[in-house]
Amino acid sequence: MLLKRDYKFWFCTGSQDLYGDEVLAHVAEHSRIIVEELNRSGMLPYEVVWKPTLITNELIRKTFNEANADESCAGVITWMHTFSPAKSWILGLQEYRKPLMHLHTQFNEEIPYDTIDMDFMNENQAAHGDREYGHIVSRMKIERKVVVGYWKDPEVRARIASWMNTAVGVVESSHLRVMRVADNMRNVAVTEGDKVEAQIKFGWEIDTYPVNEIALSVDAVSASDVNALVDEYYEKYDILLEGRDPEEFKKHVAVQAQIELGFERFLKEKNYQAIVTHFGDLGSLKQLPGLAIQRLMEKGYGFGAEGDWKVAAMVRLMKIMTAGVKNPKGTSMLEDYTYNLVKGKEGILQAHMLEICPTISDGPISIKCQPLSMGDREDPARLVFTSKEGMGVAVSLIDLGNRFRLIINDVECKKNEKPMPKLPVATNFWTPMPNLQTGAEAWILAGGAHHTAFSYDLTAEQMGDWAAAMGIEAVYIDKDTKIRDFKRDLMLGDVFFGRM
Ligand code: MN
Repeated sequence: MLLKRDYKFWFCTGSQDLYGDEVLAHVAEHSRIIVEELNRSGMLPYEVVWKPTLITNELIRKTFNEANADESCAGVITWMHTFSPAKSWILGLQEYRKPLMHLHTQFNEEIPYDTIDMDFMNENQAAHGDREYGHIVSRMKIERKVVVGYWKDPEVRARIASWMNTAVGVVESSHLRVMRVADNMRNVAVTEGDKVEAQIKFGWEIDTYPVNEIALSVDAVSASDVNALVDEYYEKYDILLEGRDPEEFKKHVAVQAQIELGFERFLKEKNYQAIVTHFGDLGSLKQLPGLAIQRLMEKGYGFGAEGDWKVAAMVRLMKIMTAGVKNPKGTSMLEDYTYNLVKGKEGILQAHMLEICPTISDGPISIKCQPLSMGDREDPARLVFTSKEGMGVAVSLIDLGNRFRLIINDVECKKNEKPMPKLPVATNFWTPMPNLQTGAEAWILAGGAHHTAFSYDLTAEQMGDWAAAMGIEAVYIDKDTKIRDFKRDLMLGDVFFGRM
């Protein structure tokens, strides 16, 4: 699978040797029980691995460096069962480079009022030890997630699970590779950006290939492979001929099947996980990749249209971040296309020329063949559907010249009020939070793009944590957004990030 990797998270418990061997034995036993039960809960997307109690500078430093070097380790969860003098953590933390969680919990849920004595308090003093540890992490300005609460609480476990998915996005960002088979659309500003800075900040490798090089890979796909895939399409999707000749229709579909196979082979061979195309730069391709790109997105590839490599990378990352989600509802590139401004029904029709990922679909998916109003190729085959209802998050990563900003908008997806029989593309429809007026005003003030990376399965908190891990600015547009405060957020961002 292109998405899910077998990542693990290390569980490191802090203490010191002041309390004697018996206490240290309890500390180790308790942390083992926590790890076992977290794994057994079935609530975490990735396994937690217990590590021996950290009590000396040397062991802390060694453990963090082992975590750096272990490719399967996506992060470390730390917890101070007792007091652990935090100077012991400085060198290890300084050298650590992966996501860090501080789980501020306690082995016992309730104070044992009848039996509590000084020995018990000395052994169970996370309230005390975790503050010492938290101080040094803050003083060292190290980004980490703090989760507070009883380790058996399902809400606490859900927060750990959510962070694990974010952490995997952080780790995978550092080896994400985007293939550009076209440059940015001429004269378009918001899809542009500094690719060198993106590699420094996010770790992304963004390379360009002549479109005809990938077109050769498409030409090389055998007729039998194409026919087999076309048969799969015809089994899986409804065929909407809309008056076209069935044989001619099938030939158009076969072009997309050949593109899907040729593109996928090229991406695999060269180890890329995201791709951009451009309707104005298709070389010898017979059609704009529509259905083909939709299928590749479904398989886990990131995609950006019109050369938009920032969206391609974000879609890929958000797909990785949802790889551990049970029953995911879907993740796709989308584009703000058309408004409904009727009072009480305000929202934005989300679509694109063709390329919307079928993971967000609700109900049947059809294949249609229709002319494109732009470009100069054959009528491309595409998958057409409507999308699920429910809350989601739409993000836009923009380059402001001196820095990147991630704009994060909570959106409520709704059913289209009426069918749109003449619209031959997949759609979603959402109302941005807190409402269309404020949501769109804030988005425009922040400089957000028309292309977004969207997911039903991620939260604003997760996207903000990812941005924080990358060291970039994030702004939130949600149910609490007020324009006056939002403008202040943007001003603060200018002061803080503008000088970096
Ligand atoms: Mn577009």
